[in-house]
Amino acid sequence: MCGIVGYAGLEQAAPILLDGLERLEYRGYDSAGIAVLSEGKGLQLRKTKGRLKVLSALVDGGKALEGRMGIGHTRWATHGEPNDVNSHPHLSQNGQIAVVHNGIIENYLEIKEFLVSKGVHFCSDTDTEVVAQLLEYFCLQNGGNIMAAVYTVLDRIEGAYALGILCKDLPDSFIAARKDAPLLLGYGENCKFIASDVTAIIKHTRDVSYMEDGEVAVVSAGEIKVYDALGQPVEKEHSFIDWDVSAAEKGGYAHFMFKEIMEQPEAVRKTVSPRLKDGRVCFEELSLSEDYIRGLKKIFIVACGSSYHVGVVAKYNMERLLRRPVDVMLASEFRYADPLVDQDTLVIVISQSGETLDTMAALREAKKLGARILSVVNVVGSSIARESDDVLYTWAGPEIAVATTKAYSTQLVLLDMLGLYFADIIGSVSKEEYARLAEELQALPTKMEKVLENTEEIKYLASRYFNHASVFYIGRNLDYALGLEGSLKLKEISYIHSEAYASGELKHGTISLIEDGTLVVALGTYTPLFDKALSNIIEVKARGADIVALTTESRRGDMEKTVENVLTVPDTHIILQPSLGIVPLQLFAYYVALQRGCDIDKPRNLAKSVTVE
Ligand code: GLU
Repeated sequence: MCGIVGYAGLEQAAPILLDGLERLEYRGYDSAGIAVLSEGKGLQLRKTKGRLKVLSALVDGGKALEGRMGIGHTRWATHGEPNDVNSHPHLSQNGQIAVVHNGIIENYLEIKEFLVSKGVHFCSDTDTEVVAQLLEYFCLQNGGNIMAAVYTVLDRIEGAYALGILCKDLPDSFIAARKDAPLLLGYGENCKFIASDVTAIIKHTRDVSYMEDGEVAVVSAGEIKVYDALGQPVEKEHSFIDWDVSAAEKGGYAHFMFKEIMEQPEAVRKTVSPRLKDGRVCFEELSLSEDYIRGLKKIFIVACGSSYHVGVVAKYNMERLLRRPVDVMLASEFRYADPLVDQDTLVIVISQSGETLDTMAALREAKKLGARILSVVNVVGSSIARESDDVLYTWAGPEIAVATTKAYSTQLVLLDMLGLYFADIIGSVSKEEYARLAEELQALPTKMEKVLENTEEIKYLASRYFNHASVFYIGRNLDYALGLEGSLKLKEISYIHSEAYASGELKHGTISLIEDGTLVVALGTYTPLFDKALSNIIEVKARGADIVALTTESRRGDMEKTVENVLTVPDTHIILQPSLGIVPLQLFAYYVALQRGCDIDKPRNLAKSVTVE
């Protein structure tokens, strides 16, 4: 996590860096800092604990610093508490080298001990500071050759990093390097950039390239030179970013999260329509042959967080459609589980950012075991996309709020489409079922719009229950999978303790936690098990729970016989029902967090795009 930006150009660097950092703040926001280099004033550095606005005030919006080149950082601390000293950039002892870093230097203690034994004095508790200090150490040993020092340091450090390095002895350029953490290069006229994410620089240029592991870049206003791990020059392939700048702005909404909830019908439309032609699902971007699909023995879905929840829904849906085994596992578990994956397994990895470190590691593990990798990713050109055999992009556009909404929805629908596509080739779905599903896929965005038109009831329920200390989401089958995501949404932004349970499991333990006034969000959108859902509601109600129920319009009447607070979504094909069910749950979480005065777009301790383990 954390965001990095770097600039070399003809304009004053500090305001440009601050603006870039503002757009990266979703990646980390416990502290921020910038370092700027100018001939007259030398290396100037300012950093502080707190949000970016604190830094911005400290440097008078950038006016306090002079220089046309610099690096900036917004931090999500992994090593060392968030305070002024631990903020980035970190300086080497002689004050000649400044470093910003995203990632973790795993062997930092060993390096620190070595440097301390050589008399180096450390100021911070971070892992990052060893990079600055080791650079200075080798620079002095190499007669001041910073590039040689960079290569030696990269050889010594272990772990993950995107680095920006500003050095007093290099007045016209700064250095960038990466391994297992995202970093892209931006090419403007007489201005060049590095950034963790394209949103930081899109105002200035749409011409970018992505750094690969082991590469080192030397960035100056006129050009960017890139070298591989052996120091050989590399010709970078450029990509053009066609995102609308306004897509990364709030556009009048109070929060990105609300804006992104509202954007879901459009995002789903953009994801579905290019792949649904004349009632047929087509994936022109897939290179999987029909023979391969027919011969598939097993599918393994690997992801983290909400993407994992998409995987849980997809397991139910794909197994139903394909009648083939589908496993789903958390990426952080998969990579150390010695998973049963081989060349007959298709591994589907899901990640909004395409940079999630655990997912990336799982992908590499699966590849090593011979599996074919298909990734479902939102950010075009991201590391996961580049390392996969096939990529399906969710066309959700930039997602800024830390709590995902539109990326989740687009992933969900894409996995359903993939299931239908495979089922058709395998021959495990009837013509009628296929046609019904295709029709409902087409209608999905409009039905989502309908859900979004009706937020008053949800707002009311949020105002009624926002003070509860604990919430349980219960459901069976797809409703259980839906509950996992609904519950995560609530806890991550409102800080209310919340758990999702398969309703059938209640009596095996959890029901002992239900007492007078416990809030239970009971999901009854999976209509084949509606009666069972009702029985579970009656069980928890009998123990004093307050119930908010969610069901389909066709079952509202039945639900209202038992429950006072009933939310509904339109009916659709059962497989697609979670795509509608999630919307009121997102809104409920949003309004609860709003009532509680939480920082919705930047919840405490969290950051988007988890690029550390
Ligand atoms: N490990 C570094 C720190 O704690 C960087 C963290 C990050 O990438 O967010 O300062």
